[in-house]
Amino acid sequence: MLNFSVKGKKLLFLSLLTFFLSATYCQVKLMTGGKWYRGNTHTHARFSDDNDNNDVPEIAEWYKTAGYNFLCLSEHNDHLLKKQIFCHEEITESQNFIMICGLELSKTRHHTALGIDQYIGDEISLQDGVKKTIQSNGIPILNHPNDPKINASEFISTIGLNHLEVFNGGRPEDTHASEQLWDSILSMPNGRIVYAVASDDNHYNKSNVGRGWIMVRSNHLTDKSILENIRRGNFYATTGIILNNYLVSKRNVSVSSSNSDTILFIGENGKILKKAAGQNASYKFRGNEKYVRIKLTEKSGKSAWTQPVLVSKGGIRIKNLEYNN
Ligand SMILES: [Zn+2]
Repeated sequence: MLNFSVKGKKLLFLSLLTFFLSATYCQVKLMTGGKWYRGNTHTHARFSDDNDNNDVPEIAEWYKTAGYNFLCLSEHNDHLLKKQIFCHEEITESQNFIMICGLELSKTRHHTALGIDQYIGDEISLQDGVKKTIQSNGIPILNHPNDPKINASEFISTIGLNHLEVFNGGRPEDTHASEQLWDSILSMPNGRIVYAVASDDNHYNKSNVGRGWIMVRSNHLTDKSILENIRRGNFYATTGIILNNYLVSKRNVSVSSSNSDTILFIGENGKILKKAAGQNASYKFRGNEKYVRIKLTEKSGKSAWTQPVLVSKGGIRIKNLEYNN
């Protein structure tokens, strides 16, 4: 082991660096390359709405036709007579559109168990549901965090919970409060990085479809790859603003979109660090922001939210994150 080749030394150094960074800050695993895939993590159908008709094919067809690439049918687990998860593999078309297994755990505090591989029906608390979701290889997402209201300390004390809905199609009026909660979680001394999701929470056939979704950066359209990139925060949430580019370097972050009017760079406790008009903007890190996230808006009310980039005096904790369409 003493006679390393130069290449071997470089690889060892890189793997140690990767290990060190990933052990400390999960964001360093973010990828470059890949493609954007559009999907909805929170949709209901017949079994949540006591509908005798099987409306699943019709609902899935709507998403498919609208250009989505993945969909999770997250039926309420407390409504189900038959204890099962819903995967609907028969709807999957591997090249364009996949179904991801899931449930909305609803016996206590509603949260999506995205991508689970077994039924969960006996959770006794949010923490218990989160634990069982992770044990079932899924991703827990706190749904509509203002219905009922949860505070930042309660969220932070829930181990394993790293995703929340900043936008829920059934409660768009809660968005501002959800965003404030997100900033509080990111800002508290014992806070941690949390990723924001937008979803439809569709009910009653197609009453909420197309309101909010996520765009996931992934190398492949498979449930494994999509879930892994959601887990890592390799996505953004949107109600209709689409990003063209998103670049994070050591010095700055820049973004461009197809249809924004205003771009906000937001830091600790929701502070507006910079406001820019139009479809392109960048922000130079100062080092004391704690985190920087971007919100893009336009006149009719559409928004997009990028995930927070951690910033400290030593510099940002990710490098060369670049998304290009
Ligand atoms: Zn729901």
